[in-house]
Amino acid sequence: MTTAAQVLAQFQAAGVETCFHDRHIAPQIYADLNGSNWGIKDYEARGGYQALRAILGKDGGEGLTQDQVIATVKESGLRGRGGAGFPTGLKWSFMPRQFPGQKYLVCNSDEGEPGTCKDRDILMYNPHIVIEGMIIAAYAMGISVGYNYIHGEIFQVYERFEAALEEARAAGYLGNGILGSGFSFQLHAHHGFGAYICGEETALLESLEGKKGQPRFKPPFPASFGLYGKPTTINNTETFAAVPWIIRNGGAAYLACGKPNNGGTKIFSVSGDVERPGNYEVPMGTPFAKLLELAGGVRTGRQLKAVIPGGSSSPVLPASIIMECTMDYDSIAKAGSMLGSGAVIVMDDSRCMVESLKRLSYFYMHESCGQCTPCREGTGWLWRLVDRIHRGEGRPADMEVLDSVASNIMGRTICALGDAAAMPVRAMIKHFRPEFEALIRNKTPQAAPSA
Ligand code: SF4
Repeated sequence: MTTAAQVLAQFQAAGVETCFHDRHIAPQIYADLNGSNWGIKDYEARGGYQALRAILGKDGGEGLTQDQVIATVKESGLRGRGGAGFPTGLKWSFMPRQFPGQKYLVCNSDEGEPGTCKDRDILMYNPHIVIEGMIIAAYAMGISVGYNYIHGEIFQVYERFEAALEEARAAGYLGNGILGSGFSFQLHAHHGFGAYICGEETALLESLEGKKGQPRFKPPFPASFGLYGKPTTINNTETFAAVPWIIRNGGAAYLACGKPNNGGTKIFSVSGDVERPGNYEVPMGTPFAKLLELAGGVRTGRQLKAVIPGGSSSPVLPASIIMECTMDYDSIAKAGSMLGSGAVIVMDDSRCMVESLKRLSYFYMHESCGQCTPCREGTGWLWRLVDRIHRGEGRPADMEVLDSVASNIMGRTICALGDAAAMPVRAMIKHFRPEFEALIRNKTPQAAPSA
């Protein structure tokens, strides 16, 4: 088995900035973190805020224009790390920079996807990297006000980010006339209340405005009608965290860390039936088998059965398929799933897939905001069907009804939660149908549910 130290050596040999944080592999974002060196002095000692100083021409250079910053981010191949994988530089270019009124920048730290726990770690261990990334983004798009919307329930993370904001303001990195330049940017933290749906960007904006967090119809998209109806750019925490490294090292260097169309590194939250669950930052395109090794492999005495590769809304893949995949957007999509937020949920051969689906279905039923009928009614219908099968009361026709309900939710809702509820159902039926049918026939689960 390849040890974490061996992987570290490989990264260093390839010229990638690398270090460990506990069990985490950390080429860029987790660099040298030990839990107590999150503050601004330590961040600056690690090269922090150098990218900002460089674009503002504060270290002897000419600085970078807005177009140059956006071009560098485009060159890097950075794609949104929140789940959609949309090219970040392209998104930044959609911002109407000449808009005469207020424009906003928003960081989506409302991390609520089951299995995902990377953004809270970034904010806890390296908050200034997100702040610097947001300042650079604001500079590139000519934005003067930003918000970081942080998931409810993680109070310590919110307090840590607030403390980091105070440090950045005191050091002159935030506020009016940053580092003596003509560029001003005010950044605020906003603490959400824990609703999963507020991770959907327009629900997040509604919540930020003080309203009930429900998704908006699109179009119009936030780039033209966002926060308070003004042009707004929203990126995920991990996306902003990648920006300072890209500016310091160049877009081409970042792209080279990964593979074509899948630049850079990505943090994967590996959970479930592995020996060492945790966050692992690895180059995009790392084989799944290598990531599994880093997490210590499947827990002792068990075989890999299936993996949900990108958070609970991504379709499950059986072991035979995922073991052939590399961890990047294109490979996972080709296999029939999504890289999503990078939450890798590993299931061993003791797992009952009917029970797993029941838990997922309950989650989406609970988190549906209720605006549209297919989602509001359909998620409850899905859960009741799976629950009935799991209780040993399933009927032969239930498999077709399950598939039909899921099919009729997909593509018929305001936001992606409807699809997120339906896709796991269809994938489970596709790959593990015999397990459901056996339970309907025999009235007892095929694999023992976990404790
Ligand atoms: Fe709300 Fe579900 Fe409709 Fe999204 S799909 S707007 S969560 S009811």
